Amino acid sequence: MIELKNVKKTYPNGVTALNGIDIHIDSGEFVYLVGQSGAGKSTFIKLIFREEMASSGDIYINNRDLSTMKWKDVPHLRREIGVVYQDFKLLPKMTVYENVAFALEVVEESPRQIRKRVMEVLDQVGLKNKARFIPDELSGGEQQRVAIARAIANYPKLLIADEPTGNLDPDTSWEIMKILEEINATGTTIIMATHSKDIVNTIKRRVIAVEGGLVVRDQHRGDYGYED
Ligand code: ADP
Ligand code: ADP
Repeated sequence: MIELKNVKKTYPNGVTALNGIDIHIDSGEFVYLVGQSGAGKSTFIKLIFREEMASSGDIYINNRDLSTMKWKDVPHLRREIGVVYQDFKLLPKMTVYENVAFALEVVEESPRQIRKRVMEVLDQVGLKNKARFIPDELSGGEQQRVAIARAIANYPKLLIADEPTGNLDPDTSWEIMKILEEINATGTTIIMATHSKDIVNTIKRRVIAVEGGLVVRDQHRGDYGYED
């Protein structure tokens, strides 16, 4: 489902963030992306989402070649990928319901379908009763659950989580992990960049470690491997 071949990324300022990445990720996998700050994790995620383009090498997502993909096809790619961020990125003036519905409205679903699906995903993350709230009225963990609901609303095959528990306390982080595991159990591929040693060492999954723009470790049921 995801294939990177000798992928390099040098930013316009001359910084090389990725220096020859080869990765293959199958459908349904749960992958932790670990590595110190500046290692290239976010760049990797941006390339997959086509937020940035590789300087060289090949990237295939669901058999689509990202290097030759036309701009008009990028929205279609993004519809197949849900993304969750450390800082949630919810729309502050919109309700929980609207934040999720918005993701469906941009893909031109019928109003009836949107309503049904919004309540379904809010139910899945345990927030059906907070549909009328705005993000400020929610805890950090609840806001992240809204972000997850929004990310999965379009039934993406791939869910990318960029340090989803980075702003959350340990108890809340485990709740978020439980939801991500449930989503993965339905067949959705998950790539999660994380600095949580506890999570990686407790919920054992594939670990890909990046350092200096290179994959330095790729382990089935791996360890976090760093001390922070
Ligand atoms: P990580 O997510 O692992 O912290 P990043 O992918 O954000 O790593 O960064 C990798 C390297 O690329 C760092 O040296 C960073 O400063 C640099 N970098 C990231 N984004 C940009 C950008 N938009 N322009 C220039 N350099 C960048
Ligand atoms: P129930 O019948 O259990 O109340 P609903 O699906 O009617 O469930 O709605 C659950 C919550 O979602 C309610 O708080 C409702 O106000 C809110 N809601 C439903 N549709 C919308 C909408 N279009 N815009 C904003 N909030 C909505």
